[in-house]
Amino acid sequence: MNYFKDKVAIITGGGSGIGRELCFQLAKSGATVVVADIREDYAESTVDEIKNRGGTARYMKVNVASEAEVQQLIEETVSQYGRIDYMFNNAGIAIGGDVRDLTMAQWKKVMDINWNGVLYGSTIAYRVMAQQGFGHIVNTASATGLMPQPGNTPYCASKHAVVGLSQSLRYEGADVGVKVSTICPGHVQTDIYKNMTVANVPNEKVVESLPSGAMKTSEAVDLILKGIIQNKDIIIFPVAVRWAWRIHRLFPALLKQAWLRKIRSIRKLKDGEVTQ
Ligand code: NAD
Repeated sequence: MNYFKDKVAIITGGGSGIGRELCFQLAKSGATVVVADIREDYAESTVDEIKNRGGTARYMKVNVASEAEVQQLIEETVSQYGRIDYMFNNAGIAIGGDVRDLTMAQWKKVMDINWNGVLYGSTIAYRVMAQQGFGHIVNTASATGLMPQPGNTPYCASKHAVVGLSQSLRYEGADVGVKVSTICPGHVQTDIYKNMTVANVPNEKVVESLPSGAMKTSEAVDLILKGIIQNKDIIIFPVAVRWAWRIHRLFPALLKQAWLRKIRSIRKLKDGEVTQ
């Protein structure tokens, strides 16, 4: 049986990276896909590609940081297709750096997109789905929503908030037919790092310093869709990250040096500052 056939799915951030690949794989499985992105050109290119491959999709230009635009996205989807089966709150950005260097405007920008965007998408879709008596909300957090990430603290804080919302909503939704899952990936090959801001560090240095071995988006999305079919609470990958999470919960002191190395490596990139 094809689990996603004839389902209606909204994917925010569907114009690039993990969201784009989610759109492709869902459409390939027979779902109708609403590609929502702030970048109209990206979203349009995802939709064109799906249509070329024989799938069904439309795009909507949406800034997830705007409650009104997210409301309109969901209302228009329901009015066009009659229901929503999946709400993927996936759009996100990364802004990090030494906390001493970050401005409040940078904190606010991350929280507006990564936190408020998911809050609006989750709660507005939840009301619709609860009334329908079915639906699945899938929120993209990160492995850093479950563990510290010194040097990327605003991002980490926004993703912790997403995990808290999603895990609580999962139990509220259980009695009204609504499922909620949280995606917590490690490093996946997308443009998020190319577009990342690290306060007082040139972006080329950030990109150069990334560890190798990031997962391909196709592999990540295979694992995400498998987790959704199994209605998993937390969908966390790759295996090394799952182990790190286990160690963090059971023996947090074992990871202390790893976390210190992270912030020290950012400080070295910034101005050669050595604090050890
Ligand atoms: P990406 O940069 O390739 O894609 C992000 C998409 O979101 C882009 O199409 C962008 O235009 C869109 N977007 C940004 N701001 C928006 C806004 N205000 N409104 C609507 N759309 C907006 O990045 P990605 O890696 O595919 O990221 C997808 C999600 O996965 C994010 O939530 C990210 O935090 C999370 N994540 C990524 C990684 C990774 O290693 N790539 C790891 C963990 C979590």
